[in-house]
Amino acid sequence: MKLEIEKIIGLLKEEIKQINNLEEWKKIKAKFLSKSSFLNKLRSDLKNAKDKKELGQYVQYYLQNINAILYDKREQLEGKNIFTSENNILLAKNIPEIIIQSNDKGKIHPLTKISFIINQYFDNLNFNYVYGNEIEIEKFNFDLLNIPKNHPAREMQDTFYLLDENKLLRTHTTNITARKLYDDKSNLLKYYTIGTVYRNDDNDSTHSLQFNQLDFFMLSKSTSIAHFKYILSKLLEKIFGKDLEIRFRLSYFPFTEPSFEVDIGCFHCHKKGCSICKNSGWIEILGSGMISDEVLKLTDKDVNQMQGFAAGVGIERLAMIRFNVKDIRDFYLNNLKFLKNYDQKER
Ligand SMILES: [Zn+2]
Repeated sequence: MKLEIEKIIGLLKEEIKQINNLEEWKKIKAKFLSKSSFLNKLRSDLKNAKDKKELGQYVQYYLQNINAILYDKREQLEGKNIFTSENNILLAKNIPEIIIQSNDKGKIHPLTKISFIINQYFDNLNFNYVYGNEIEIEKFNFDLLNIPKNHPAREMQDTFYLLDENKLLRTHTTNITARKLYDDKSNLLKYYTIGTVYRNDDNDSTHSLQFNQLDFFMLSKSTSIAHFKYILSKLLEKIFGKDLEIRFRLSYFPFTEPSFEVDIGCFHCHKKGCSICKNSGWIEILGSGMISDEVLKLTDKDVNQMQGFAAGVGIERLAMIRFNVKDIRDFYLNNLKFLKNYDQKER
């Protein structure tokens, strides 16, 4: 199925090269998204499918890719494409079909912009994207990640539990790491996700009870810290620009050993000290580490055979640092003034 979809995406990419105006664009759009398109076949298959979840993911995958390519072209036609080269036709995992009604449409949302960069990066590295479950069971949110029963994160004041006691709203996208480690028995696992997570926090300028996270991990017979450093450094360069100083500090997380906090040299003040880096010259970016033996054992992996890294970070945090946004609530309020100007202070 995936192959078939890839073929159609390839076809769209070819056809879209020939388009010169909006009329032609509309025809192509109809061809790939209309009732008589492949999409419809997918949807009717879905009705009768035994494994609805898997097929649903394919429908999702098809829509996201086709929409991303179509709307990227449309922006090009309208002369508004923020991305410069064709390589930047992006797989917009999070972008719904945008209806553009006038020229006054603002800009791509900062969280979407950061997500675009991340999606493109991991797609190029052949990492598999999974969205995972927002409603999760304790096993995948906590237990398999070696987060003990008495851990403060598991308490009611930090986690939203559902009435069905075992279920909760995921507190991190690391649940997909737990799930894939548990489900995928192959010798090479490369996964990433960008998705919504929930914490029982009061909303303020730096906290939101709902926000988005990136998680990624890789596991194989030979995945090393060197692989991790390379993959992470290149990712951070894509997000924050080249000539970035990156620092790894030893830390502690229940599911990694050794664990690292990763900092970047403050590019707003060139490490001289400013309000963004709290005068330290460094900005804390994310938590990461090598997947611990405990987690590998809990997910039935052979600790002598398999090793890998995992990392997680808030998308809002990345956007706040890159665009110097002081209040996380700005991302959610649909304030046009913010949405039009958020990148004015970019480096
Ligand atoms: Zn600074």
